[in-house]
Amino acid sequence: MAEQISKPYPNYHAARIRAKGSFTRIRVLQTTKEGILIKGGPLKSNPSGPTKVQTIWFPKDKFTTAQAKAWLKEHKYTSILFEPASEKSEKASYTCECIECSHTVETDKHCKDLKCSECGGQMRRKERPGPGQKKQKSLWPTISNRND
Ligand SMILES: [Zn+2]
Repeated sequence: MAEQISKPYPNYHAARIRAKGSFTRIRVLQTTKEGILIKGGPLKSNPSGPTKVQTIWFPKDKFTTAQAKAWLKEHKYTSILFEPASEKSEKASYTCECIECSHTVETDKHCKDLKCSECGGQMRRKERPGPGQKKQKSLWPTISNRND
């Protein structure tokens, strides 16, 4: 595996312990048997000093956010920012369109399993808009909980 660890993983909870900018460089310091990745490095304020922890990554298939936070507490880490793995990132997101009335909906279900909330018609997969779609930057489109 290449050293691609600096990018956030959707399947990991990230507990930031120190700001990234305080480090001269960051690498994986340790991988625990539970699969926790501990990243850090020397601080800019003390480049030849000891390595400090920057972020701790918890695989979400082994840790809930509560378990991750408990682990941090147990190991006496205080996170300045805790980012839970995105639940939505695991699920597919579809845009479905009603064949009857063109009502569209964002869903994690397959379109064929849905009925139009407007007219009860059959839904089908609507192609995602290609160009103009923001890349990776924003999170998944908001899934409306409204019934309209
Ligand atoms: Zn409809």
